[in-house]
Amino acid sequence: KIPRGGASSVSAAGGARRLPVGVRKPSLRVVVTGGAGFVGSHLVDKLLARGDSVIVVDNFFTGRKDNVAHHLGNPRFELIRHDVVEPILLEVDQIYHLACPASPVHYKFNPIKTIKTNVMGTLNMLGLAKRVGARFLLTSTSEVYGDPLEHPQKESYWGNVNPIGVRSCYDEGKRTAETLTMDYHRGAGVEVRIARIFNTYGPRMCLDDGRVVSNFVAQALRKQPMTVYGDGKQTRSFQYVSDLVDALVTLMESNHIGPFNLGNPGEFTMLELAQVVKETIDPGASVEFKPNTADDPHMRKPDISKAKSLLNWEPKISLKQGLPRMVSDFQKRIMEEK
Ligand code: NAD
Ligand code: UDP
Ligand code: UDP
Repeated sequence: KIPRGGASSVSAAGGARRLPVGVRKPSLRVVVTGGAGFVGSHLVDKLLARGDSVIVVDNFFTGRKDNVAHHLGNPRFELIRHDVVEPILLEVDQIYHLACPASPVHYKFNPIKTIKTNVMGTLNMLGLAKRVGARFLLTSTSEVYGDPLEHPQKESYWGNVNPIGVRSCYDEGKRTAETLTMDYHRGAGVEVRIARIFNTYGPRMCLDDGRVVSNFVAQALRKQPMTVYGDGKQTRSFQYVSDLVDALVTLMESNHIGPFNLGNPGEFTMLELAQVVKETIDPGASVEFKPNTADDPHMRKPDISKAKSLLNWEPKISLKQGLPRMVSDFQKRIMEEK
C-alpha cells in the first residue's frame, strides 16, 4: 500500500516537511487531467515553468497534442493518452482535474459520455487522490447555477438547473462532481479544492469550438458574419485564460476548499461582444442572427468577493486587452489552414 503523500518528501496532505539546509526542495508531481485542452495546456506551462513534474492525462477528445508539443522531450513532462472514465494508477502529490469537454457543442455531441466523464472520471481521480494522499482540485463551472435567478451569482446560490434538458449532462454532471468531491473530503479525508469557472477565452481554443468568443473571432478573421444566437441580449462575463490559471494555482496552494467563483465580472451582451470583436479585428465585420439553443442561460456574472478576500486574487486582463492576444494566435492557425 502506498503511504499517504506518496514517496515525495513534500506531502500534499501535510504540506512541506522541513528539509536539511542545502537540500533542494524536490519538485511536486502533478497530474493535469485534460491537460492537452485549452485551459489545461496553459496550466501545464505554468506548473512546468515553476519547476514541477507534470503528467498530462488526456483522451484527446477536444484536446490536441499541439497544445503541449513544446514540452515533449522535457524530462519533467509526460503525456498519457487515457480516458478518465477508466481507473488509472499514478503516484502524485496534486491532481488538477480538468478532463471534460467544455463547449456546449462538444459536451452535447455525446451526452452519455459527458456525464460518464464527470461522474466516473471524477470518482476515479478522487479514488486516486485518496489512495496516494494527493490534493485534488475540481474545475467546476458557472453552469452549476443554471439559468440563474440571482444576479450576480454568489457561491452560496444553489442554482436553477433543468435536470432533464440537453445541457444537463454537463450542468448536473458537474454538480455531481462537486458532490463527490465534498463526500471524499468529508468521508475519506481527501484534501480538496473546488473552482467554479466562468466563461474563459484565449489562445489555443479550438477554432471550431462553437463557443461564442472563438466563433466570433474565427468568423471575423475569415470575413464571415458573426453568428448571434437569439436576440443577442443574453449576457456573459469573459475571463482571459492567464487570470484563470493564476487563480487555479493560488487556490490549489491555499488552505481553502471553496467553492470559489473564478471569472471576470465585466459583463457583456453578445451584441456588445460582437462590437468589441469588430473593433479589434475588422470594422467592416457584420452580424447574422440565428435561433438560440435550448436552456440558454439569460445572464451570467460572477460575484468574486470570496476569491478576492480569501485568495487575494482578482482578474487583471480586460476583454479589450485579452482579445488581441487571442486574435494573433487564431490568425496564425487560420493562415496555416489555407
Ligand atoms: P477543453 O475542451 O479545451 O479541454 C478539455 C480537455 O479534457 C481536452 O483536452 C479533452 O481532450 C479532455 N477530455 C475530455 N474528456 C476526457 C476523458 N473522458 N478522459 C480524458 N480526457 C478527457 O476545455 P477547457 O475550456 O480547457 O476546459 C477545461 C475544464 O474547465 C473543463 O473541466 C471545463 O468544464 C472547465 N470549465 C471551462 C470553462 C471555460 O470557459 N473554458 C468554463 C467553466 C468550466
Ligand atoms: N481508482 C483509480 N486509481 C487509484 C485508486 C482508485 O483509478 O489509484 C479508482 C477505483 O478504480 C475506483 C474509484 O477510483 O473506481 C474510487 O476508488 P475508491 O477506492 O474510493 O472506491 P472503491 O474502489 O472502493 O470502489
Ligand atoms: N452564442 C452566440 N453565437 C455563437 C455561439 C454562442 O450568440 O456563435 C451565445 C450563446 O447562445 C450563449 C453565449 O453566446 O448565450 C455563450 O455561449 P458559449 O457556448 O460560449 O458558452 P456558455 O456560456 O453557453 O457555456
